[in-house]
Amino acid sequence: MKIALITIGNELLSGFTVDTNAAWIGNQVIQSGGNIIWHQTIGDSLEEIHASLNQIPIGIKTIIITGGLGPTHDDVTAHALYEFADDTPVFDEDYWTFLQEKLSKRNLKLPEINRNQAMKPGNGKIIPNPMGSARGLHYCVNGQTIIALPGVPGEMKEMMTATILPWIKSQSSQRLIVKTIRTTGIMESGLAEKMGDIVNTIDKNIKIAFLPQFTGVDIRVSGTDKTVVDEKVNEINSHVSKYIYGQDKDRLEEIIGQMLKEKKLTLTTAESCTGGLVGHRLTNIPGSSEHYLGGIISYSNKVKENNLGVDKSTLEQFGAVSSETAKEMAENVRSKLNSDLGLSITGIAGPGGGTDEKPVGLTYIALADGKNTRVKEFRFLSDRMLNKNASAQTALNMVRLYLLNE
Ligand code: ATP
Ligand code: MG
Repeated sequence: MKIALITIGNELLSGFTVDTNAAWIGNQVIQSGGNIIWHQTIGDSLEEIHASLNQIPIGIKTIIITGGLGPTHDDVTAHALYEFADDTPVFDEDYWTFLQEKLSKRNLKLPEINRNQAMKPGNGKIIPNPMGSARGLHYCVNGQTIIALPGVPGEMKEMMTATILPWIKSQSSQRLIVKTIRTTGIMESGLAEKMGDIVNTIDKNIKIAFLPQFTGVDIRVSGTDKTVVDEKVNEINSHVSKYIYGQDKDRLEEIIGQMLKEKKLTLTTAESCTGGLVGHRLTNIPGSSEHYLGGIISYSNKVKENNLGVDKSTLEQFGAVSSETAKEMAENVRSKLNSDLGLSITGIAGPGGGTDEKPVGLTYIALADGKNTRVKEFRFLSDRMLNKNASAQTALNMVRLYLLNE
């Protein structure tokens, strides 16, 4: 089913609000057998809403609109739709009473301005809103179905899930199957090279897309035949398995947690340039206390020396950002905090602090298990946040590879 999406709001155009509704709707309708093939973001204006509705490409019979259903002067979507559908709305006394009672239970009085939210279409339908006061509108005009939902993301999602997505599902004969393979530790071009002919095969039934981020590359495989999609996913798996840490919404820290749990191993961290980011990510997973014991944020040399026990001479001779320091940090946090594995990160996050010999982005990550200590050098980028994120991801990936015996 081809769908057009119009997101309405001056704040979306000015960039004060990011249009997360469009991203969420696009993703959800795919899974219900629909496809957003046309999208416009417009301001809160009657003229623009009319213009947008008049521009919808021929062949699209379903239009979803979000935003502008609220009670304030800038919310004009309902008014525009009444005009577009040549409809005269009527006042819904029951809903007005319902809204008043709802607020009076919370000792609040409903402002008169909300009366326009109690209007209902004369020849269209209402879409219930279980969370808020702005109900959605459903019109059929010239063979097109128009669905208008509030802009508030939480309310829009509830209404889509309860009413619109099931309807799209019931109208769609073919659902697109989408599988995401999550990789890290390799660049997009490296992956494409290793995958060779798998990507080059021109198969109309399947689409493969690379979605690179600084922390890894997602490979998205989509098609209408589940068997074909599964086969392709397996084929990709067999070529680049070392780099794949999960599927769909899997997170690296979640996968590591499962692996540590299975192997009954515990982990501690000594973080310098990441300032606790690895610990933050590990503790985002419920139940992580079973395998993550804690860490020391040893940002200054003093803490590295006094609290983590890194040798003063190591720091003096090789510097805080060196493989020698990283090695001692990992070994010492492991023994001090009594874990099976000790993970450390030390690097120059930038923007300052780099030299020719040790440029911004230079990072050492070490992993100690009591017998051996792996230390690796990485050269990340010049942006501080990117470096912190890349370092944390790479450190977690080192733990994953260790647990895989790679
Ligand atoms: P309400 O009854 O709450 O006024 P509404 O339909 O009028 O509903 P808006 O006034 O357009 O909604 O927006 C309400 C809130 O939702 C605002 O904070 C706005 O920034 C946010 N919002 C609107 N559209 C989007 C969007 N496309 N993506 C993310 N947030 C959005
Ligand atoms: Mg608005």
